[in-house]
Amino acid sequence: MKRPSILVLGAGYGGLTTVVNLQKVLGTDAADITLINKNEYHYESTWLHEAAAGTLRPEQVRYDIKDVIDSVKTKFVQATVQAIDVQNKKVTTDNGVFTYDYLVIGLGFEGETFGITGLDKYALSIANVKAARYIREHIEFQFANWSTEAVKDDSRLTIVVGGAGFTGIEFLGELANRVPELCKEFDVPREKVRVICVEAAPMVLPGFDPELVSYAVGQLEAKGIEFSIGTPVVEATPEGVNIKKGEDKFEFIKAGTVVWAAGVRGSKLIEESGIENMRARVKVDKDLRAPGFHDVFIVGDCALMINEETNRPYPPTAQIAMQQGETIAKNINELIKGGETVEFVPDLKGTVCSLGDDDAIGVVFGKKVTGKRASFMKKMIDNRALYMVGGPSLVMKKGKFNVL
Ligand code: FAD
Repeated sequence: MKRPSILVLGAGYGGLTTVVNLQKVLGTDAADITLINKNEYHYESTWLHEAAAGTLRPEQVRYDIKDVIDSVKTKFVQATVQAIDVQNKKVTTDNGVFTYDYLVIGLGFEGETFGITGLDKYALSIANVKAARYIREHIEFQFANWSTEAVKDDSRLTIVVGGAGFTGIEFLGELANRVPELCKEFDVPREKVRVICVEAAPMVLPGFDPELVSYAVGQLEAKGIEFSIGTPVVEATPEGVNIKKGEDKFEFIKAGTVVWAAGVRGSKLIEESGIENMRARVKVDKDLRAPGFHDVFIVGDCALMINEETNRPYPPTAQIAMQQGETIAKNINELIKGGETVEFVPDLKGTVCSLGDDDAIGVVFGKKVTGKRASFMKKMIDNRALYMVGGPSLVMKKGKFNVL
């Protein structure tokens, strides 16, 4: 009898965890597993703000996929997925067409610009490891230009960060530490540099404990970060951003760098696939299958799940993506054996938001933490994610050990 084929799209947290767990749970020769990813490497999306600010080298954020999968059990194909045809069970890539018996879609997130004029064109987004490296080099280029130009344009040294959510605040935390280094390197007086966080909502880090939020804002302000809260960006231009400060009041912030970190959506390929979706995310069934498709699972940021306690969607996180990957592997194994799938129940251990290498805020196992202790926990969380995919050797290679 022909072995069932399992096709996993995307080697992010969700896709890679699915594969690593499929390798564990499936019996020998039980199925053919193929993993498709755009690059031959996986990158830690949760570390991208560090690569973008320049506090971590881009190479440190990524590792080769072949080093963490079992090439006997899984075939890895480096390819960019171009179309997903769930009716005909066919996936088209720039490296061939693939069919499947079971499909797992884990193509991750894309930036959401909410239709704001010019953002697509003029703002940078911490979307992947190449984009992060570009942001780092763009900021350095602005500093280098300022220090060599005869007539100085100080707006080169202004960095606008759109969004005071998790990604925006983590990026600001890194910038707060990086700016003094850049000033030293490029002979720029610190007072010439402005880093401004612009947020449409009336608060920073919505959903976080107010005491922790106030700690985070205080720490960042003490390092020179400015906040403009309740002031939506209405337009981005090659020169900067226009923000709304009142009914008929606008302010233009001239800036050499604009980074948009105010929202994510799923992959646009989901929208084109014919699977029902909301902003490219699929409201999955309890066992993580796409509604109406018994052979299609969705993992990570492409999946939308409602938290029944709050009646709001769970935020897209690596923590949930990895847990979903484990459940999907179990469910596919059950389906192959003729068994029943199980419901996915997230086991949320907490959330830690870093404020640079040496500071953080968080709630872990129900307890609030700040400062070096929280920062230590954040590094342990980062190392644990590595461990779950690649074991101790990956932790030794890529782990964060500069603690306390
Ligand atoms: P990803 O990890 O993004 O992986 C998607 C994969 O698909 C990538 O390898 C990509 O190259 C590949 N891919 C995409 N399109 C194609 C294509 N067309 N063809 C082939 N391959 C493709 N979450 C937390 O839990 N804790 C945190 O502290 C945290 N911090 C964050 C900080 C930042 C700066 C960012 C951006 C996100 C953070 N998140 C955090 C969120 C977390 O990174 C995401 O929820 C997580 O990456 C989702 O995992 P995923 O597997 O769905 O997608």
